[in-house]
Amino acid sequence: MTSSTAGGPRRLGVMGGTFDPIHHGHLVAASEVAHLFRLDEVVFVPTGRPWQKTERKVAAAEDRYLMTVIATASNPRFSVSRVDVDRPGSTYTIDTLRDMREIHGPDTELFFITGADALAKMISWHNAEEMFTLAHFVGCTRPGHHLKDPGLPDGRVSLVEVPALSISSTECRARVRDGEPIWYLVPDGIVQYINKRSLYRE
Ligand code: ATP
Ligand code: MG
Repeated sequence: MTSSTAGGPRRLGVMGGTFDPIHHGHLVAASEVAHLFRLDEVVFVPTGRPWQKTERKVAAAEDRYLMTVIATASNPRFSVSRVDVDRPGSTYTIDTLRDMREIHGPDTELFFITGADALAKMISWHNAEEMFTLAHFVGCTRPGHHLKDPGLPDGRVSLVEVPALSISSTECRARVRDGEPIWYLVPDGIVQYINKRSLYRE
C-alpha cells in the first residue's frame, strides 16, 4: 500500500462519532477514505458528551471508548484517541480538531471523515469557517442521506462514495432492546461486549 511517509507531510484521518455502538458502516467509511486519500493512519475519536444528543441517554463514554478500541484493534492503521472522552463538558468538533493539531503538530495534514448526514449539519455550525482551516473535510455517502454540495468552501471539502452499508447505531440499539440479532452489523467483539455489559437493554 502506498504511504505518504515516503515524503511529504503525514496524512492523518480523524473519524469523530458517538460510536454508540461502533458498527461496520463507520469502519468501512474510514477504511475507504484511508485508501482513497492515502492516509497513514485513521484515529477514531469517540465523543465525550455529544452536544447534539442531549435529548437521549447515551452509553457511558468509557463503554463507547472500549468498543471503539475493540472494533479497530485488528487494523494496524486504525487507532483511538481519548481527547474527547477526557475533556470535561460537551464535545464540539472544533475542540477535537484543535487538540489533534496540537498533538500531531503542523507537519500533519488532518482529514476529518464524516457521513453525509453529519456533514450537512456541520456546514451550518457557527464555527464552520475555522474548522475548515484546521482540516480537510471528507464527506462520505450514506444510504438514506443525500450528499450534496450546498455551497461548500472551495477545496476544503471532498465528497466521496463509499460502499453503501445501511447500518446506524440507532438501529443497532433498537435491535438489542427488541431482542433482535446485531451479528454482522457490528464486529463480533462488539456483540460480545454489549452482552457482557448488558448495554441498550431498556
Ligand atoms: P446514531 O444513529 O446514534 O446517530 P450513527 O450510526 O449515525 O449513530 P454516529 O456515531 O452518529 O453513528 O456517526 C459517526 C460518523 O459516522 C458520522 O459522521 C456519520 O455520518 C458516519 N456514519 C455513521 N454510519 C454510517 C454509514 N452507515 N455509512 C457512512 N457513514 C456513516
Ligand atoms: Mg449519527
